[in-house]
Amino acid sequence: MGRRPVDAEGDGRGVSDPGDRRDATRVVGAGRRAEWTRGVVSTPVWRASTILYDSVAEMRAAGADTHHRLFYGRRGTPTQWSLADALTALEPGAEGTFLYCSGVAAIAAALLSVLNPGDDLLVIDNAYDPTRSLTTGLLARLGITARFFDPMIGAGIADLIRDNTRAIMLESPGSLTFEVPDLPAIIAVAKAQGIATLLDNTWATPLLFPAIARGVDLTIMACTKYVVGHSDAMLGSVTAGPGRFAALRDTSFQLGQVASPDDCWLGSRGLRTMAVRLAQHEKSALKIARWLATRPEVAQVRHPALPDCPGHAHFVRDFKGSSGLFSFVLNGGGDAARVALIDGLDLFGIGYSWGGFESLALPCDPHRYRSATTPDFAGPIVRLSIGLEDPDDLIDDLAAGLDRFRTLA
Ligand SMILES: *Cc1c(COP(=O)(O)O)cnc(C)c1O
Repeated sequence: MGRRPVDAEGDGRGVSDPGDRRDATRVVGAGRRAEWTRGVVSTPVWRASTILYDSVAEMRAAGADTHHRLFYGRRGTPTQWSLADALTALEPGAEGTFLYCSGVAAIAAALLSVLNPGDDLLVIDNAYDPTRSLTTGLLARLGITARFFDPMIGAGIADLIRDNTRAIMLESPGSLTFEVPDLPAIIAVAKAQGIATLLDNTWATPLLFPAIARGVDLTIMACTKYVVGHSDAMLGSVTAGPGRFAALRDTSFQLGQVASPDDCWLGSRGLRTMAVRLAQHEKSALKIARWLATRPEVAQVRHPALPDCPGHAHFVRDFKGSSGLFSFVLNGGGDAARVALIDGLDLFGIGYSWGGFESLALPCDPHRYRSATTPDFAGPIVRLSIGLEDPDDLIDDLAAGLDRFRTLA
């Protein structure tokens, strides 16, 4: 990998090389170009605002093509280029990746790169709540209408398309409730009508769902979650499919977007172990989800790999595996019983982010973030992010929690 030739594509373009290696090998080697690592294993942290030139002539030449050339701190240094290059390499067929200071910033830049005033946007109804707020807030102010659709709509999305529909914002599985949409059917409709598809791929990462190869135009990750993997940095990415990178880059430059080199370094460090971490998250989460499904206190487990999760068949058909985030619906009971379950847990933190090495539990009320659909649940919902602890210890902790729930339900 270190011997890969110097990039000569210029201007941020250049179709990524899918390589003939397997995922775990690619996450170890990707982005470690010799001219960035200079002999050490990992690309170091290059912090910069000013770049110094030997002459005015050299300065002018640098400005003519800033791709992977030091120009000004906002345009990045090898630390950012290395992580962006790595994420592009994980998405066969991708044109390039831009990095952001958070997942939400990535979502905003991706949407702004394809939308203009007067445009219509379709948004999946189980989208991450800040995605909803962005579309009904800033985008509405810019004269862009957002309409929400049933996550299980599939090819029926064709009936919603208007003359001015320019983009479809997707997430799979959806936040909190984990429905898996029929992405190929929706993508086929969008492609036939020249509509851009954007996917929040934070849950699966390219290792479990290579979005660009499946026809998505812009795939987004909150790298804050599995890429960083240690709950200690905020970071977002957008990887662009064919023909989409120039607009993404220009929009992001104009917005002044730059991810900090220190956080990108943490992202690169996390990426090297992402394949093994995801494999363990998958194994532990499945064990716990299957155990929860046997419990009388649990009405339903919302895990895409379990048969009663809506869209399970799409998951089996389209995904290479599952990650560590899912939710479960309690069998009746109220919020106080749910709070008792969560508050008494020893090994699960109570917090919003996820994808780190540590387990988390969160009460969630998805009804509040819906407008096109009104899902009906048998009781309150708990979302779990399964970390890297021994799953049997997590099960013991949850079993005691379900006992607390039962006495109050
Ligand atoms: C956390 C999250 C985001 C936002 O990421 P931040 O880095 O916290 O801004 C986006 N999408 C999904 C699905 C998330 O869970």
